[in-house]
Amino acid sequence: MYSPFSLAPWNDRLSADVNPKFVYGRSGWLLAIILLLIALGVSHGWQTFEAFKPVANGIRPEARLTILSILGVEILITLNLFLPGLLLLTKWRFSLLVAKTLLAVSPFFLFVGRTFIEPCDSDVLSAVRSYLLPNVFFFCAPILLYLTYSRRVQNSFMFAGSRMPSKISCPFCLTRQTLNSDQRKSKQLQCGACGRLIASSTVLA
Ligand SMILES: [Zn+2]
Repeated sequence: MYSPFSLAPWNDRLSADVNPKFVYGRSGWLLAIILLLIALGVSHGWQTFEAFKPVANGIRPEARLTILSILGVEILITLNLFLPGLLLLTKWRFSLLVAKTLLAVSPFFLFVGRTFIEPCDSDVLSAVRSYLLPNVFFFCAPILLYLTYSRRVQNSFMFAGSRMPSKISCPFCLTRQTLNSDQRKSKQLQCGACGRLIASSTVLA
């Protein structure tokens, strides 16, 4: 039974008459991105833990604030990677939106943390070149573009949000459909091409 409030990781089963060519579920590139984000988050968290373990007991009081700020930044960077991956596995109704927001802010956050809180790079321009731009263009932007325009993501999150997307593919005949605001809100519409009712009750098993 489909429940938009469940947090359980899932691949919903599709109803038997859904077109086999309807791309759906956490596999393919979507699964690769989910696993990449979770793996990067776990690896970053582990590196942070290993780096801070030896200094945890011997922090001088005057260095405590600096060390805790750096630890805070590293924990937030870990969560910025790990949480989007985890959210994309769930069927929480805001999971796609929150995952995309976390990913969108992560390079700026990394840049501010590494440049102003951890003085790895005091030269702002070189920090922009070494942290910000590569992260935006080679990591976040491709993932965000995929999460926004991929047919698999659009199909898999079709019923997950509080309203349906403005454009969807009919799960039965694959024709693109444009939804009006009532259809988006009620989360059901009749396909203009095949006449089938597109709703969670007819699409999901
Ligand atoms: Zn149709």
